[in-house]
Amino acid sequence: MLGSDVSSLSTDAATAAAQGLSIVVPVYNEAPGLALFHERLVTLATTLKERHGLACEVVYVDDGSADGTLAVARSLQATSLDVQVVSLSRNFGKEAALMAGLDHVTKGAVLFMDGDGQHPPSLVEQLVRHWIVEGYDVVYTAKAHRDNESFLRRQAVRGFYALINWGARQKIPEDAGDFRLLSPRAAAALRQLPERNRFFKGLATWIGFRQLRVDYEPAAREHGVTSFNPKQLIGLSIEGLTSFSVAPLRFASLLGLLLAFGAFLFGLSILWETWVSGKSVPGYPSLVVGLMTLGGVQLIMIGVLGEYIGKILSELKARPIYFVAEHSVKRNTPDSVAQ
Ligand code: UDP
Ligand code: MG
Repeated sequence: MLGSDVSSLSTDAATAAAQGLSIVVPVYNEAPGLALFHERLVTLATTLKERHGLACEVVYVDDGSADGTLAVARSLQATSLDVQVVSLSRNFGKEAALMAGLDHVTKGAVLFMDGDGQHPPSLVEQLVRHWIVEGYDVVYTAKAHRDNESFLRRQAVRGFYALINWGARQKIPEDAGDFRLLSPRAAAALRQLPERNRFFKGLATWIGFRQLRVDYEPAAREHGVTSFNPKQLIGLSIEGLTSFSVAPLRFASLLGLLLAFGAFLFGLSILWETWVSGKSVPGYPSLVVGLMTLGGVQLIMIGVLGEYIGKILSELKARPIYFVAEHSVKRNTPDSVAQ
């Protein structure tokens, strides 16, 4: 049996750095900016090595890119950090790519970072310090503000988190992104979670340990466009919601109860009118409105049930989360390994 005891891995400042850091970068059609991104990582790795004695590795997960991303990734040099390139057999989505990266890391701590330059490498040293020096296990970042997003989108985000956290014991922090650092024991815990439908932000919160929030100013995308359109964001929200809460089901029950109570009162009032005041039932319009309301609500709630049943089905099929088509490892050049 897989043990669930990860406490044996120490977070003691003296031994933490010795475990090294793996940086997982999912890339999907990021060819134009990848070389520059890698250059920045090399600089970062050199700094981390010099100041903290931390050996780094980067794991690029090519998520079935259609442009030359894989070729660019293959050509990157392993100066001052090891470079792994994991190429998936097709586009599986960012969550699957993150999982693939997590499965391939060889160092202790894990940092998730986007390959489009929106997650500032300059912040990494601070995140690392929170882990090594202060012993935090999950250092997650949150956008300091959403001023550049539309009012509608901000309200939607707020509504989503209100719903997902409704009654939840472990609240998922609003605005937290995928840019986060996990200590070795937190990464080990995350790896033990068996589910196929993954919502990383939620899972990384759910595992517990010592968590810390760091606010940052997100940079604008340097090349290309975001791969998340509103339709995909809605998909991700439903995914997150159904993975982390039964709030929609509870809401369905409450609504059903409320409607039934309303119907009961309405029935009483009809009886009252007929018996006491002797008026006949006016009927038709109220009947149609009632029918339509009930029909609509029932259909919505069947849809909600369907979401959960679909989730059970995909967990039951237990398919692999991704397939690796190609995997290459370049070890750091000896002169920069020497310390
Ligand atoms: N990404 C991925 N697979 C996908 C979509 C995106 O690996 O199917 C990567 C992408 O290359 C980037 C990160 O996930 O490194 C974030 O994607 P994007 O910038 O499109 O999202 P946003 O920043 O708008 O949330
Ligand atoms: Mg981005």
